Amino acid sequence: MCERSADCSKDDACQLVIRNNDTGIETVEYYCKAHLVGRICEVEAEDGLAVVDATKLWS
Ligand SMILES: [Zn+2]
Repeated sequence: MCERSADCSKDDACQLVIRNNDTGIETVEYYCKAHLVGRICEVEAEDGLAVVDATKLWS
């Protein structure tokens, strides 16, 4: 399952943990490998957000 697009047919799931530096709250999102890379770039460009962990999920 890829949160980027409902039409994404990639099945290689990756878990991305993002932390909001203002609130300290961590959120977990799931993307395919290709969309994970794009999302990490977005997060790193945001001042208030930080990538905590990006993990390939083996199933
Ligand atoms: Zn995707």
